[in-house]
This record gives sequence, structure tokens and C-alpha cells, in this order.
Amino acid sequence: MTSPDAPALSIVVPAYNEQEVLPEFHRRLASALADLGLAWEVVYVNDGSRDTTLEVMLGLQAADPRVAVVNLSRNFGKEIALTAGLDHARGTDAVVVIDADLQDPPEVIPELVAGWQEGFDVVYARRNTREGETWLKKATAHAFYRFMQRIGGKVQLPPDTGDFRLLSRRALDALLKLREQHRFMKGLFAWIGFPAKAVRYDRAPRAAGTTKWNYWKLWNFSLEGITSFTVAPLKVATYFGLLTAIGAVIYLAQLVVRTVFFGNPVAGYPSLLAVVLFLGGVQMMMLGIIGEYLGRIFNETKQRPLYFTERYLPSRQAS
Ligand code: UDP
Ligand code: MG
Repeated sequence: MTSPDAPALSIVVPAYNEQEVLPEFHRRLASALADLGLAWEVVYVNDGSRDTTLEVMLGLQAADPRVAVVNLSRNFGKEIALTAGLDHARGTDAVVVIDADLQDPPEVIPELVAGWQEGFDVVYARRNTREGETWLKKATAHAFYRFMQRIGGKVQLPPDTGDFRLLSRRALDALLKLREQHRFMKGLFAWIGFPAKAVRYDRAPRAAGTTKWNYWKLWNFSLEGITSFTVAPLKVATYFGLLTAIGAVIYLAQLVVRTVFFGNPVAGYPSLLAVVLFLGGVQMMMLGIIGEYLGRIFNETKQRPLYFTERYLPSRQAS
């Protein structure tokens, strides 16, 4: 990937229907990086947008030689779009991953770069506040991070951290070796390891356009995170089954004793039904959990490429 004119730093920006913010994003990015003293490029990934995002990108690319454009063949979702951008990043020294909607302020990038110059391979931006988001979104995000921390084991997700971060070239090369279909990027970023450092910032509300997330998507995203991160849920069935069996044995012993000493009054039908329904429900749920993993195994075994690019226009010069 390295060519003589390759820039030191690549900024990777996945975008889906971001026509309103992209010009403003590019302006703010360029002014934030003006005094950086490093040659940089920005890789805009159009993730099958339904609006004029691609045209806006092509306009930026024509006007600014530091702009590269990757156009995916359809919408693949943010995680894959990000991967496509990272694949096409020519930066020889480092990459920065940032959202297009200006929720991650480009002004923080020099601080990330400073962290990298101190010698850290991964410098992630940790948010102080989440302006313009509902308390429910904040609360659910908080709960999710705490939960992931508890089940994470050796691989710990840094809390209150999105995808906004800097990776050194060697960290990026490590990340790019992970080609799984189900890409929970926060988990992958954490999994590769390397010396890491946090930089704090205030997360702004979206500058324009609307979020592509809703609670159903967030739920599925959490499932993705959990199932690609840990097999702990598969063990729940084992322990639950064990507990149930122990309970059943105790109940049985109690029943025998009672029948021998006090005779056998007719046992309750409702309690029987309750137990049967409860265990049936638990079994279905456990089958569902196994299914979640099985479906992912199915997808991985197909070994499909992660995405297809419709076109790639590299940046034309180091700034
Ligand atoms: N995005 C993308 N593909 C998608 C959905 C989103 O590339 O299918 C991009 C989007 O344009 C933005 C980033 O991913 O740059 C984050 O998306 P969004 O702001 O909707 O998520 P949130 O900030 O609410 O987590
Ligand atoms: Mg956003």
C-alpha cells in the first residue's frame, strides 16, 4: 500500500446519507489539521447512500487533492464501511477513524496525534458528555458498557468510547488481519491490544441529518457485540440446567418424605403448568442463544468478501 507520495496520516470517514454535513465536515477537518505539520489524506467511504452523498464526495475529491473516495457497491453498514476505509487508507504512520456527522469533533484529532507522538499505538477519544441524546439512550449505552466490562474478561472495552480513535500503522495492520464477517469494531479495536491512551472530549449533538440508529438496531448491535466478543451466554444453559436439576432433586426428596409420612394429597395442577411453561420458555431462549452463535458460524463459513467497491479514487498528493 505504501507509495512514495503516501501521506503520513489517513482520516477514515464512513458516511451514509450525509449530504448535508459533509461539506461542513470537510471544512472543519481541513482547518483542524492545518497546523498539524503532517501530510494527511481523508478517505471518504460512501456506504450506499440514497442521497447525493457520493456526488458531494466526488466534488470534494475534485477540489482537494487530499481527498480519496471509496464507493461501496451497496449499503453494508457502518462497521464494514469503516473496514473498507481502513483497507484503502494509505497513511504510512497512522489512521484516525471519525464519524461524518460532526459528533466527533475533528478539532480533537491533533490531540490524538499528540498522544500517538508520545508513543501510544491506540489513542481513543473518550466522551465526557453526550449532548443532544435522550437519557434513555445514555442510560442504555451506559448499561451496555458496564455489562460488556463484566463479561469481557481479558479483553476490556474502554467505557464511553465510540469508534473515534487513532491507530498507529502497526495497530492498523494488526486490525486488518481480523477479517470476520461480524465486525463489532469496538471489540476488534480492543482485541488487538497495543499501548493505548484515552483523550477526553465533549461529544456534540449531530450537526445535521438524522441518526441511523433506533433501539431495535441498538439491541442487535449489542447482541453482535456480546456474541462476537464472548461465548459466556452459551454457558448460561449449563449452570441454569444444573440449578434446575438440583432444585428438582431437593423437591423430589421432599415429596418422597411427605408421601411416606403424611400420605399423598393431590398435587396442584397450576404449579405443574407454571413449571412446565417456565422450563419450556427457558429452553427456547437457550436454543435462541445457540442459534445466535450458529447463525454467525454459518455466515463466517461462507467466507465471502466483506464488501465490494464500486469505485476507488485515491488521494492525489500528500498535502
Ligand atoms: N454510517 C455508515 N453506514 C450505515 C450507517 C451509518 O457508514 O449504514 C455512518 C454515518 O454516516 C456516520 C457514522 O456511520 O458517519 C455514525 O452513524 P450515526 O451518526 O448514524 O450513529 P450514532 O452517532 O448515532 O452512533
Ligand atoms: Mg452520529
